[in-house]
Amino acid sequence: MNLSIAAAEALDEADALAEMKGRFILPEGVIYLGGNSLGALPKHVNQRVSQTLASEWGADLLRSWNSAGWVDLPRTVASKLERVIGAAPGSVAVTDSTSVNLFKVLAAALDKTTTAGVGNRRKILTERNNFPTDNYIAEGLIRLTGDRHELIRIDTPAAILPELDEDVALLMLTHVNYLNGYRHDMAALNAAAHRVGALVIWDLAHSAGAMPLDLTAANVDFAVGCTYKYLNGGPGAPGYLYVAPHHIGNCQQPLSGWFAHETPFEFSPDYQPAGDIRQFLCGTPPVLSMAALDQALDVWADVDLSALQEKSLDLADYFIGLIEKKCAGHNLTIITPRERKLRGSQVSLTHPDGAYAMMSALIAAGVIGDFRSPNILRFGFAPLYIGFVDVWQAVDRFAHILEMRIWDRPQFHTRKTVT
Ligand SMILES: *Cc1c(COP(=O)(O)O)cnc(C)c1O
Repeated sequence: MNLSIAAAEALDEADALAEMKGRFILPEGVIYLGGNSLGALPKHVNQRVSQTLASEWGADLLRSWNSAGWVDLPRTVASKLERVIGAAPGSVAVTDSTSVNLFKVLAAALDKTTTAGVGNRRKILTERNNFPTDNYIAEGLIRLTGDRHELIRIDTPAAILPELDEDVALLMLTHVNYLNGYRHDMAALNAAAHRVGALVIWDLAHSAGAMPLDLTAANVDFAVGCTYKYLNGGPGAPGYLYVAPHHIGNCQQPLSGWFAHETPFEFSPDYQPAGDIRQFLCGTPPVLSMAALDQALDVWADVDLSALQEKSLDLADYFIGLIEKKCAGHNLTIITPRERKLRGSQVSLTHPDGAYAMMSALIAAGVIGDFRSPNILRFGFAPLYIGFVDVWQAVDRFAHILEMRIWDRPQFHTRKTVT
């Protein structure tokens, strides 16, 4: 690998996705490697939210629920997402947060009325290093339903298959791990779980918008994900859920709010779930966030997702090569798998005691990644707006911070609330 800046420039020249950067607003001088945490702002979102405020809320007032299609946003926005994640039309709803959506699909999957009837089985398998909210939510549901289930936390990906037996109700995994970027083989794990009669729930938080997904072909039962990472929906943008068409109508979710009703505006005293994916909604959609997300998803209309993934892996390989060359001897360890089929779009490094301070110093130098406790530096490569020269410059600044021990200055050691 040629690691010169000239080589990086040549790679950017040859990059068919390079022009996508023009679709985003990015601050001058900043290299943004935090797109796996909070995606950048797409250009037309400002205008769209202003319009929703001024002419919809400000002028048409409640008439906008009909005239501007506010009431349909959970589905109209979802239809844009369906293409990005390879889901059949009508199988996705954009609503609530990832955490809340996970609660709903977990409960629905364990519902005794499912044709699979997995609710009589005891185990829910997950990973110990899954994103904490996923495991917290599962534990909360288990408590609420009288400890009929047990959350089994597996330590390594290789240990998942041997744990799959006839007492497993659910396998609940995050496709790409938030700490080390490890990527599971979704289709293979679905097939293995289905062989023992278990269902699978995938969290797509770190995969949607970074690689092509085909939930239909992979035979996914349920999935959830967030839209503010690689999908650039904005801070706290609503999450989404996917339910395979053959499960819709065969299971019930417990947050049976009025937006999940067949005819919410009949205001019936009796609950009748909608016959379609809307049965997984709960309450009134957050229209301003939905408007921003709706606009942000237009960025994806013509993106070749396979090319996007190739670029993200190339960027990460380039980053790894540069780190190994320019940042050697500073006690950094790369914890992301090298094998391309085993990773998502991020690279994580550890340092025994300097990780937080190093990331703080990087951010002060205009290279924005993030820190994850206890000792992880995360760098996300959002291929729509990151290029090879960006990667080159980021590592160049990092090497300088290490050489000069800039990171060890006291101001970089004080922890902020959000890391
Ligand atoms: C970011 C992330 C979440 C976030 O959940 P919220 O409910 O949106 O806060 C959940 N799961 C995973 C795997 C994540 O990476």
